[in-house]
Amino acid sequence: MSRVALVTGGTRGIGAAISTALKAAGYRVAANYAGNDEKAKAFEAETGIPVFKWDVSDYQACASGIAKVEAEIGPVEVLVNNAGITRDAMFHKMTPEQWNEVINTNLTGVFNMTHPVWSGMRDRNFGRVITISSINGQKGQMGQANYSAAKAGDLGITKALAQEGAAKGITVNAVCPGYIGTEMVRAIPEKVLNERIIPQIPVGRLGEPEEIARIVVFLASDDAGFITGSTISANGGQFFV
Ligand code: NDP
Repeated sequence: MSRVALVTGGTRGIGAAISTALKAAGYRVAANYAGNDEKAKAFEAETGIPVFKWDVSDYQACASGIAKVEAEIGPVEVLVNNAGITRDAMFHKMTPEQWNEVINTNLTGVFNMTHPVWSGMRDRNFGRVITISSINGQKGQMGQANYSAAKAGDLGITKALAQEGAAKGITVNAVCPGYIGTEMVRAIPEKVLNERIIPQIPVGRLGEPEEIARIVVFLASDDAGFITGSTISANGGQFFV
């Protein structure tokens, strides 16, 4: 039987590309989302990938959402922590709400999702946890103290869990995309995108969601069994670690 993969924020942008690519690679895929029912239902109808609504910043919602996925599809063997938000502001203007929302979704959400599937992965001696961090978690970004902190935290939990999971057949890795042409990035004013952002990308263009999805499919595969605790950067040459 094919493996089960759960993708958070799997109905739009990079997550939708990941869900679709995993399905094409033969996985039984479940796609989580937060609240955009219209988009999620259209995605489900178009791809045949079942969608499940819950908020990754809520631990109980994650535990019961995962239980529903496992009852309907099977034990989660591949978890892709992709859901993420931005609430940008310069630090002197950043509100505690903007800080907390981003930390709770982009960092605590990774704990909330990984913790409920971890024991099952240990028991079955197999698991793949792949978290979508960001170039801005590697290098920091002005106007994104909250986002940069959360995404750097994602790299920390990845390295810690890689050590805990290694003896149990669980690999834990992160992908750090640069600027990818999704709604999150298209929301940046076009002038800023064309005059400030794209000129900083040596390959001269935004990345495509499918370029991130292909990395995830590889990390999920048996071929990637010796890769754990790693960060794969995909940023068009914008930043080297
Ligand atoms: P989008 O804004 O296009 O999509 C975000 C997805 O996450 C949606 O499916 C959304 O659901 C879901 N989501 C948001 N908050 C929650 C939540 N609390 N609980 C469950 N699901 C949630 O994002 P991108 O595709 O651009 O980004 C995907 C990931 O990649 C993020 O983690 C982002 O930080 C990271 N990233 C993106 C980059 C880019 O250039 N786009 C660059 C580097 C990293 P709904 O549709 O219901 O709102």
